[in-house]
Amino acid sequence: MRQILALSVCSEVFPLIKTGGLADVTGALPAALRPHGITMRTLVPGYPAVLAQLGSAERVLEDPNFFGGAARLLAGTAAGLEVFVLDAPHLYARPGNPYVDGQGRDWPDNPQRFAALALAGAVIGGGMVAGFVPDIVHAHDWQAGLAPAYIAFSEGRRPATVMTVHNLAFQGQVPASLLATLRLPASAYTPDGLEYYGAIGMLKAGLRYADRLTTVSPSYAAEICTPEGGMGMDGLLRARAHRLCGILNGIDTQVWDPGQDALLPAPFSAGDLVGRDLSKSAVQAQFGLKADSAALLFGVVSRLTHQKGMDLLLEALESLLEAGAQLAVLGSGDVAFQEAFLLAADRYPGRVGVRLGYDEGLAHRLQAGCDAILVPSRFEPCGLTQLCALRYGAVPVVSRVGGLADSVIDANEAAVAAGVATGVQFWPVTAAGLRAAIARVAVLWANRLAWTRMQAQGMAFDVSWAAPGKRYAALFKEVVLF
Ligand code: ADP
Repeated sequence: MRQILALSVCSEVFPLIKTGGLADVTGALPAALRPHGITMRTLVPGYPAVLAQLGSAERVLEDPNFFGGAARLLAGTAAGLEVFVLDAPHLYARPGNPYVDGQGRDWPDNPQRFAALALAGAVIGGGMVAGFVPDIVHAHDWQAGLAPAYIAFSEGRRPATVMTVHNLAFQGQVPASLLATLRLPASAYTPDGLEYYGAIGMLKAGLRYADRLTTVSPSYAAEICTPEGGMGMDGLLRARAHRLCGILNGIDTQVWDPGQDALLPAPFSAGDLVGRDLSKSAVQAQFGLKADSAALLFGVVSRLTHQKGMDLLLEALESLLEAGAQLAVLGSGDVAFQEAFLLAADRYPGRVGVRLGYDEGLAHRLQAGCDAILVPSRFEPCGLTQLCALRYGAVPVVSRVGGLADSVIDANEAAVAAGVATGVQFWPVTAAGLRAAIARVAVLWANRLAWTRMQAQGMAFDVSWAAPGKRYAALFKEVVLF
């Protein structure tokens, strides 16, 4: 089998640096591709957190003036990943989050910071690092969007390119005046090139110039080609639809393994759910909810934002409580939503519990202890929460959009009769739609035998990276070999 070399270009990768699902995907792909004869290395910015985890590394390139300062490209291993790290202190030696300052404002030089990342990817793609000349460069989201463009404009060696969109809502529009600073040719600044309504579109560049486009679920791939879901990119995406496909993400089934999860009070499996009951009691205690194993316990593990439909949940809250259910919310995000959930917890003591912040351990316990997990997103490229829920026997209750539609089988009469239902879907994505879904869940909960069957069906659903790894590998081979 011919080995294919792939370079992944991304602004975050688990476990080195993570702010969202993107890092989980970039972190999982190298191992998922390996069995298929694809060796993937990952290029990431040298944030302090990344450099701190980089073991002994080799300096493979350097440039005294790379986007306004000295930069070195380091090759090494970090937390088990083969990485290239772009060490450019003037761009990345900053505390905290990769994208924003302590006040939550975008770093003003984000265009330069991520153009540098993308150009470094194109340079490696051009064959400048002896010993790793990739057949393919895989760019993720707007932060890496210029990589396929730099490669397309290059006079030298050109690897194949794949652009993956994890969330079309983030597009990296930057001022046109930066064209020369970002080392982009003026001739490319046209509507058919990287121009986007008077700005440079960093994601648009990737969508325009990459050989293949992917996104993280088949339904989202279809949605982003429509005016409703295309966020202004649908015209370009429709024109390139023959190059676009959706591949549903997996999750790390070792990190998410209810049979041996040290973050839980006790392990459990589909055949032995006793440990689940202990997690439910623990969640009820930790969230200040009434200890009651018979109460239907809904959980939320989410960014608290409009995209995630948190306003719909607040609107539907009374119906949820009228159904006799409880709600445990873990999340952080918009201040208004945070306050509204805290207020609800005050108003309904023992029935609504809220923890603000990001807490991996608590997320695992909620998945293990809640009876159902609510994901009422307005749009959802893939969504990982519902995949974790399936694996942990928490019945996912999801809006019928994007990856949620592709990963949950609705408990309609036919699916229940056929023994394939794994959760509940609702549509339209409104408070009324969510209320109706909650009512359906309450009815399902009342039939505990059927509920347990649905739980077991969800737990048997393959959420691993095995199938997605195979699909990415097939795509990479197709684009490289044909
Ligand atoms: P996003 O749009 O935020 O990337 P995803 O569902 O794709 O949404 O991935 C987010 C991941 O982070 C999920 O696994 C989710 O459960 C987890 N997560 C979200 N918020 C929190 C939190 N406050 N604490 C712990 N984990 C969280």
